[in-house]
Amino acid sequence: MKTFMSKCKGLHLVVLMLLVVSVLAACGQDSGSGDKKSEKKAETTKIGLSVSDLTLERWQHDRDFFKAKAEELGAEVIVQSADGDEAKQLSQIQNMLSQNIDVLVIIAINSDSLSTVVDQAKAEGVKVVAYDRLINNSEIDAYVSFDNVRVGEMQAQALVDIKDSGNFFLMGGSPTDNNAKMFREGQMNIIQPLVDSGKIKIVGDQWADNWDANEALKIMENALTANKNKIDVVVASNDNTAGGAIQALEAQDLAGKVLISGQDADLAGVQRIAEGLQTMTVYKPIKTIAEKSAEVAVQLGKEEKVAADTTVNNGSMDVPYIMLDPVSVGKDQIMDTVIADEFHSYDDVYKNVPEKDRPKK
Ligand code: BGC
Repeated sequence: MKTFMSKCKGLHLVVLMLLVVSVLAACGQDSGSGDKKSEKKAETTKIGLSVSDLTLERWQHDRDFFKAKAEELGAEVIVQSADGDEAKQLSQIQNMLSQNIDVLVIIAINSDSLSTVVDQAKAEGVKVVAYDRLINNSEIDAYVSFDNVRVGEMQAQALVDIKDSGNFFLMGGSPTDNNAKMFREGQMNIIQPLVDSGKIKIVGDQWADNWDANEALKIMENALTANKNKIDVVVASNDNTAGGAIQALEAQDLAGKVLISGQDADLAGVQRIAEGLQTMTVYKPIKTIAEKSAEVAVQLGKEEKVAADTTVNNGSMDVPYIMLDPVSVGKDQIMDTVIADEFHSYDDVYKNVPEKDRPKK
């Protein structure tokens, strides 16, 4: 009996020890994998950058500056460009999520159609940053952009400073881009009072799908025909669409006579300003937004707190908004802005301007 009892006790002890060992092993496994995750986070933050369209000049600069800064901060970056195709952007994001990223940085094609993938990212513990364009109706961690309403105000202000009456044509950007709506809001802040007082007549209002220059060209041709060429000012929302519109104006010998705004300080846009074909552009230092976004992404990847300037409501929440300042650039500001910043070189900008008409270096 004694022996049996002691045998039983021995057995109990063995079972107990086995249990303790397996519990410890299980804990070990858990904390081991947890450690691995935090070690991984401490080591490298893996960022997926989903770019709307790398065929447009501006986004190539964004990609380059972003990648360089994030890598300098020790992160790893995967970049994919959807080339303006909404469905492609969704599948590329899903693909990046399957590659074990910590942070997703999105330049949205359609600000309203990303909730599903953003929800998926959130469910997987991936942080989400809206880069330049807001993502609506979903939980995102940060929005890094310029003051986009201010951009629209600068565009309209530069035009009405020269001409505050007559026939104005509004050339909006992509109707699916939340920024396009913010630019328009800013433009109307300046123009509406002059419409109300009867000085300005809005003779047309169209939006160019995907910010496409060819689309803008067609819109402008039709607007000129419909108005028998009687258009004094074109409020264009970026340089790419302004370029298309200016081609249509050139065909009617109106380029340089009709005032037209732009945005992005694209080389072609700044060259047109230097040549007197475009009135202004809005320079948004790409290095600033790209580097700021990279810093924010790395901070979020390390679970650090991000400091925002303000918030913007995206339909679901008040998103922390890191809001940067845009700069209005007309002919007289080219030297002190884009050239001083080495965004473009003097030789490139004044390539088509006779030497005697160029400003001093
Ligand atoms: C950006 C502009 C750009 C446009 C077309 C907007 O969301 O804010 O800078 O010109 O998209 O790419």
